[in-house]
Amino acid sequence: MFEIKKILSQYITDKDDLETNNMILDLVDDVSKKEIEPYAREMDRHGVKLENGKVIVHPQVHKILKVLKQNELFGLTVPEKYGGAAMGATIQNTVMERFSRADASTSLYHALQGTAVEMMKKYASEVLKEKYFPKIAKGERLIGLLYSEPNSGSDLGSLRAKAVREGDNYIANGNKIWISSAGIVNSYTTLLQTDPSKGSRGLTAFVIDADQPGFKVDRIEEKLGLHASPTGSIVLDNVEIPVENRIGEEGKGFSAVLYGLASSRIGISAQAVGIADAAYRKAVAYASEREQFKTKILDFQANQFKIAEMATRIHLARNYYVYASRLKENEQDFGMEASLAKAFAGDMAQYVTYEAIQLHGGYGYTVEYDVERYYRDARITSIYEGTNEVQRIIIARAEIPKYAKKDN
Ligand SMILES: Cc1cc2nc3c(=O)[nH]c(=O)nc-3n(C[C@H](O)[C@H](O)[C@H](O)COP(=O)(O)OP(=O)(O)OC[C@H]3O[C@@H](n4cnc5c(N)ncnc54)[C@H](O)[C@@H]3O)c2cc1C
Repeated sequence: MFEIKKILSQYITDKDDLETNNMILDLVDDVSKKEIEPYAREMDRHGVKLENGKVIVHPQVHKILKVLKQNELFGLTVPEKYGGAAMGATIQNTVMERFSRADASTSLYHALQGTAVEMMKKYASEVLKEKYFPKIAKGERLIGLLYSEPNSGSDLGSLRAKAVREGDNYIANGNKIWISSAGIVNSYTTLLQTDPSKGSRGLTAFVIDADQPGFKVDRIEEKLGLHASPTGSIVLDNVEIPVENRIGEEGKGFSAVLYGLASSRIGISAQAVGIADAAYRKAVAYASEREQFKTKILDFQANQFKIAEMATRIHLARNYYVYASRLKENEQDFGMEASLAKAFAGDMAQYVTYEAIQLHGGYGYTVEYDVERYYRDARITSIYEGTNEVQRIIIARAEIPKYAKKDN
């Protein structure tokens, strides 16, 4: 707890704001200790199933969602006039770190809700905000992101699922894949093609409701990590979307979604820090007990150097995602910094969770120790919300023009 509060104290100068931030972090830690962390291993082993069209998760997942709702943790960044706490990216992302330290799978509900809210705050009409924000703030409506398709992952501009306007509705058809929280959340922000002749300029963003006829989860992936989080394929078969659910103008959806993804990249950096921090703590604790050659393995300097390197990378990643969050809430450009935060934190989490297993030796390779789960869960942080290669494309695009000689 100490580290993040210390960092926040350097950024947040208003005493009351700092106190509120710290109170929320304490609340999140309390919820995590009671309801999330003790169940993380069990929820991971239980996994997710699709039975008769229904997505089945461990019962504790539903309990966690209920507790987050009771504690009003879903509306942190929703504006006050819709019943939210009107807080900024810093608290949103530091909360993400704390949830992820307890369990990466369930932290995604918090992350997705935050991403959808960020995009809607900037691009949705007042009517749409009034329709969804009060329920999102109360946690009565959970929201996910419905973008990726079988042939469009990094290249989101090439999405093919369509929406055709018919009177007061759009009719959506197509396939979406890799959708987190499929079958659990009630709505999604989505990106659909409304004018295929225009490519990415024909893409339009919407809020789509999962309880509409024709909206079907038709597959749940079995995957390396995040076992307690459903990742599903969705079929859209003539799903009605009211015109009022369009986010912004027709053909302007791509930039709105990219903005939302840039925001959520900071959250994934925080997720990577949370997972790595959990692995790091367990590794140091283990190394302080395990003896070989009649010596605590923590007393071998080779292992102390390992721990120093893990700590260094975690601290740098944490400081940088907080910096990127501050840029965002101060309404400054944050796109490049969000990519830098994510690329660094994603790589850092691979390294730290790898070394955490290494410090555990063979025990770390078994399911009796949490470090194997952290290792599996960390892997996704360099893939989703834009792969680390995509992040480096963004960083290079921002950096190279600054110093490259023009006539080369
Ligand atoms: C567990 C999980 C949860 C997810 N949740 C969601 C969700 O909720 N909603 C959603 O819409 N999507 C979700 N996704 C999808 C995720 O965002 C994509 O998997 C990711 O963006 C990468 O797309 P892809 O898998 O199609 O890989 P590809 O785009 O096919 O990339 C394959 C490889 O090629 C590299 N590559 C691609 N283009 C370039 C380039 N120009 N230069 C260099 N290298 C390149 C990539 O970096 C990668 O290494 C999820 C995925 C997973 C696995």
